[in-house]
Amino acid sequence: MNTKKELSNHLNDLLNNIQNARDTFLGYPVSKDFDYSALYDFLKYPINNLGDPFEDSTYKVQTHEIEREVVNFFAKLFRANPKDYWGYVTNGGSESNLYGLYIAREMYPKAMVYYSESTHYSVKKNIHLLNIPSIVIRSQENGEIDYNDLEETLRFNRHKPAIILTTYGTTMKEAKDDVSKVKDILKKLAIQDHYIHCDGALAGSFGPFLEPYIPFDFIDGADSIAISGHKFIGSPIPAGVIITRRSLRDRVSKGISYIGSLDTTITGSRNGHSPLFLWYAIQQMGIEGLRARYQDSLEVAEYCKQELCKIGITAWSNPGAITVVLPKMPESIKNKWQLATEGEITHIICMPNVSKHQIDEFIKDVTSISEEKMEEEFIYF
Ligand SMILES: *Cc1c(COP(=O)(O)O)cnc(C)c1O
Repeated sequence: MNTKKELSNHLNDLLNNIQNARDTFLGYPVSKDFDYSALYDFLKYPINNLGDPFEDSTYKVQTHEIEREVVNFFAKLFRANPKDYWGYVTNGGSESNLYGLYIAREMYPKAMVYYSESTHYSVKKNIHLLNIPSIVIRSQENGEIDYNDLEETLRFNRHKPAIILTTYGTTMKEAKDDVSKVKDILKKLAIQDHYIHCDGALAGSFGPFLEPYIPFDFIDGADSIAISGHKFIGSPIPAGVIITRRSLRDRVSKGISYIGSLDTTITGSRNGHSPLFLWYAIQQMGIEGLRARYQDSLEVAEYCKQELCKIGITAWSNPGAITVVLPKMPESIKNKWQLATEGEITHIICMPNVSKHQIDEFIKDVTSISEEKMEEEFIYF
């Protein structure tokens, strides 16, 4: 057993490590600029949102009302039918994707899933868990799904119902699949039994603000949309949201008398604190605040791209993306700035907390490394 003093030293060390790691963090898509101290008192309660947030339940230490408001906010943002939408706050984008695919499969048990090479790893795992046959579609160079390959592959399987998994913001390049183009292909091939799930974990929460707009929402043709709450919005606990149609949820709902509610969610007990964080954030920002947040990030991304190009590094980004793609960096830089690397590329994700000052620091590190390298070359040659 630890003494009180040892325990407190241990916690302090841990806190310092986390703080230091946070300050040199450019490679993963999580916002770190939140202040939820007003909500600390809620940590004293065993809040559990078990059951469907839109149904009454016997367990009352919950935040269902707040959760509904979060769902309402995103349903409106994604132009869901006001008379036919439903959703809940999940443990993250992965669970939201699982839910989307789950109701898709319940609707079309004989369907085939189509997803691109750039799709997030959580989707492949979910398809495996649900045991749905699937086909991988090629990606274009920018990370977007190859619509020609999708069309050819669908044509070949047009006798089967189709579940299309589109990504709105791929993991490495933040490419966005155009849902209306997918919808057009389905129409052209007359595949009536189809379902489109949009994985907007990364970019869905700022999707409506893109100029020019890239179609991804319910009006554009999506049947469900997944987002992560701890990415662009920011949360101390990973969280996500799934929005779909209420009529689709009804197909999977079962009444459970033990909880006095409907068992429509993936897990039984559910985090009741995360909805509170997301709700608090959106209450403070509103739609306009969220838009401004995106525009700030975009400006930092443009700055980052420009400064990298100035020192001769070929950096680029997809239209409207806050992710800057660049060639992979030497180990020391990769480790210090926690840069996710895949093949020959890496990226800097200009989430709301990333400042121009941090970009300057990063550029300084990259410049000094190239100088060292030049000196080395000078010695050897
Ligand atoms: C992050 C991410 C996910 C998974 O979300 P988690 O919240 O980490 O579970 C899925 N898809 C994409 C495109 C992502 O960026």
